[in-house]
Amino acid sequence: MSIYDEAHAWYSANWDPKLSVGQWWKLLADSGWGLAWWPEGRFGRGLDHHQAHEADRARDDVGAFGPPGGIGVTLVAPTIFEHGPEELLDRFLPAIAYGETMWCQLFSEPGAGSDLAAVGTGAVADGDQWITSGQKVWTSGGHLADWAVLMARTDPDVPKHRGISFFIIDMHQDGVDVRPLRDMTGDSEFNEVFLTDAVVEKADLIGDLNDGWRAAMTMLQVERDLDAVGHDGGGDVINAVDLNQPVGEVQHEQRHGTSLSGFAYATGSLKDDVTHQLVADQADMTDPLVRQAVAGARINRRVLDWNGQRQVNASTVKYQNALLCRQLRDLGFSGGGIATQLGRIEQPDGGHFLKSALFAQGMAIAGGTDEVQRNIVGERILGLPKEPKVE
Ligand SMILES: Cc1cc2nc3c(=O)[nH]c(=O)nc-3n(C[C@H](O)[C@H](O)[C@H](O)COP(=O)(O)OP(=O)(O)OC[C@H]3O[C@@H](n4cnc5c(N)ncnc54)[C@H](O)[C@@H]3O)c2cc1C
Repeated sequence: MSIYDEAHAWYSANWDPKLSVGQWWKLLADSGWGLAWWPEGRFGRGLDHHQAHEADRARDDVGAFGPPGGIGVTLVAPTIFEHGPEELLDRFLPAIAYGETMWCQLFSEPGAGSDLAAVGTGAVADGDQWITSGQKVWTSGGHLADWAVLMARTDPDVPKHRGISFFIIDMHQDGVDVRPLRDMTGDSEFNEVFLTDAVVEKADLIGDLNDGWRAAMTMLQVERDLDAVGHDGGGDVINAVDLNQPVGEVQHEQRHGTSLSGFAYATGSLKDDVTHQLVADQADMTDPLVRQAVAGARINRRVLDWNGQRQVNASTVKYQNALLCRQLRDLGFSGGGIATQLGRIEQPDGGHFLKSALFAQGMAIAGGTDEVQRNIVGERILGLPKEPKVE
């Protein structure tokens, strides 16, 4: 039986929109189908990217809700699989797989974005703990997170890439102050996070001490792949989902409501759906310019999916998705006509397209800017000479 047929049979037999989200996510995780790319015995089936996509296709065809979409599932777990230790998987994985914990990523700082190795947040050993202080910024979902992954400098006396460690930190403690930032969509999805003598347990180190740069790069690589193709079908990437609500209701709200995070649009195919729907409803489809723009966006989507599913190269697909976001934004504003100039709630589609469009530019920045992706492709894939270092 093919992966598709096997997954289709399982979803057909088990999908029940009347279950609570919590019940459904537990069933899904325990079956190994929801997180099929995770290892066997760890809520997955050890499928490669392409096979896992086949399983997801079967889920979509049955119409079932997908697994939790937060970064615990998509980024934290894959990084611990790669860098260990096993004890962290034992402690954190079940709650991640069942969608019971929210996570955020404490990487960027006011002085460390593209040059991430410049992180200034320090951590000092104190018995069985590390005491950490510093400021992080652009922390997506930080206001809802229970746990975070933290890049902190543990050895200031070695070259900058070598003195960083990668920790898990409890966000619910006095030393962590989360201050939401409002973005131009009108929502607050990212935050400043101030750490003042915050505590990290020594056991909560991912990978080896002072080797955090490698673990962080693994996470960014996974993130860039996922930005392009990976977030469809389940819980929102950032927003909390009520585990007690019937899963069918949540699925309906996510398809038709307007409370989704910008990431939910930008990192999946929802942006395509809302833009093409708006254009079909509002535009003059006999206009050759509109038809050309629609065709261009559809072709780019096909090429992106093809590249993404074959994991051609994380920087290439990430960059291509950022381009598609802007292409769809421009298509919607031109094809959608004057109605798209209205405020969000007055929009003909209730604000779906506008939220997606206003968030579009963010994807050229989040997870490493377009310029940085082009540098990576130029230097590591095409073998061009290295960019001069600022220092
Ligand atoms: C929507 C969104 C969500 C985010 N979520 C998170 C999060 O959850 N956690 C987190 O830690 N961070 C997050 N970020 C932050 C993001 O990772 C940084 O904004 C990004 O890495 C760029 O860093 P910067 O903003 O400091 O810009 P800078 O690094 O200051 O860059 C400024 C400009 O200079 C260009 N530039 C810099 N260096 C080079 C170079 N070597 N060659 C060519 N051009 C260069 C950049 O491309 C950019 O145009 C998020 C950002 C956005 C927009």
